Amino acid sequence: MNPYIQYMYSYPHKTAYGPLEGISLHDFLPCLQGSQNGLYLHLPFCRTKCGYCNLFSVTGQKEEQVDRYLEAVGRQSRQYQELLAPYGTVFQELVIGGGTPLLLTEGQLERMFRILEDGFVYTKDRGMVIETSPGETSREKLKILKQAGVTRVSMGIQSFSEEELGTLRRQHGAVRAEEALALIKSFDFPCVNVDFIYGIPGQTADSLLETLKKAVSHEPEEIFLYPLYVKHGASLQREWKDGQVLHPEEALIQYREAGAYLRSEGYRQDSMRRFVRGKEARAYSECSMGTSLALGCGGRSYVGALHFCSPYTVTRQGCLEQLERFIRTEDYTGITHGILLTEEEQKRRYVIRHLLIRPGLWLSGYEKQFKSSPADDSPILNVWMEQGYVSRESGYLTLTEAGLSLSDWLGPQLISEEVRRKMKEWERTHGWT
Ligand code: SF4
Repeated sequence: MNPYIQYMYSYPHKTAYGPLEGISLHDFLPCLQGSQNGLYLHLPFCRTKCGYCNLFSVTGQKEEQVDRYLEAVGRQSRQYQELLAPYGTVFQELVIGGGTPLLLTEGQLERMFRILEDGFVYTKDRGMVIETSPGETSREKLKILKQAGVTRVSMGIQSFSEEELGTLRRQHGAVRAEEALALIKSFDFPCVNVDFIYGIPGQTADSLLETLKKAVSHEPEEIFLYPLYVKHGASLQREWKDGQVLHPEEALIQYREAGAYLRSEGYRQDSMRRFVRGKEARAYSECSMGTSLALGCGGRSYVGALHFCSPYTVTRQGCLEQLERFIRTEDYTGITHGILLTEEEQKRRYVIRHLLIRPGLWLSGYEKQFKSSPADDSPILNVWMEQGYVSRESGYLTLTEAGLSLSDWLGPQLISEEVRRKMKEWERTHGWT
């Protein structure tokens, strides 16, 4: 059995989205009342493209292009603020992702924070998350983050082995990555997260452990371990023609050894990917599946049953075209692409969102929201309980250790036939099958 089928980063996947007609954002805005909301800004710029990446990010953009993008984000922000004003929307989390947000110049970073502070309302204890990469992390930029109140800095390191970094086509070297991590730690942010990848061709359980030991010596509050997926549009997929880079048996051994090591170092495992320690680490929504509004091009908004974003693209040309379209847009309030979830899909989403992250799926919460029980709606949960992948503890359905390691095999089984059909259709029309 291959446990590495698909990362259920969010549900439904963007490839199941399509054109929307006659949808008014106004009708969904009451969902953004109160303070249980997240704001996300997508900055789709990177210095180089990593070999495994098919995210919405582009390379080779001049400073003036980033300026134009920020100008457009400012315009979009003001339009959203006007829409939200009657609803008293308060955001409890601000996430700045990408791309590589710290690719911005210092002046652009300051301008970005001004845009995000002006007019949006936040809770007093809001979390503020930003992503960076080793090559773009400088003392001056970290000072700006500190001043802006960033609470979590997340850096993709992926490996401390030069060979493995080369295989992944990462821009940075191992020494630079370690210097950047030490520098970030010296700023005393409440939470520092580092991402690593396993299942890299040539990687062994020992080389992964060496990488993790180096990481742990810097005492990050969180460590994420990602299996190497090389998806449509990633350059490594073209190099390894069949796209099958990851060897499941080896990857699973690496995962198990890495997990045991991190637990022995005091890290608690919250999901297949997330290891966390210390009281400071905030509750963190791995799948960005709450109510969340996205600014910029490439990010997704989740407003009740309405999920929307620009059409999914994995090619450089597609990203560049959408970027230009976003920059030239005058009215950001029209919704033309996304998905409207039926109640059945909302139930599936709820189960995926909660089950794959500890403490798991709270039975009373589900019953209160849907007036039914999760096992009645998704009978496969009973099968997983019998098989020992899910246990029932203190009112929660929780993945067992065996279940956690199989998250990328269990999760995809919760995809509905209709969503599966749409995803396949997207692959077919874009020439990926
Ligand atoms: S993985 Fe991250 S840093 Fe690398 S190209 Fe993709 S968005 Fe940029």
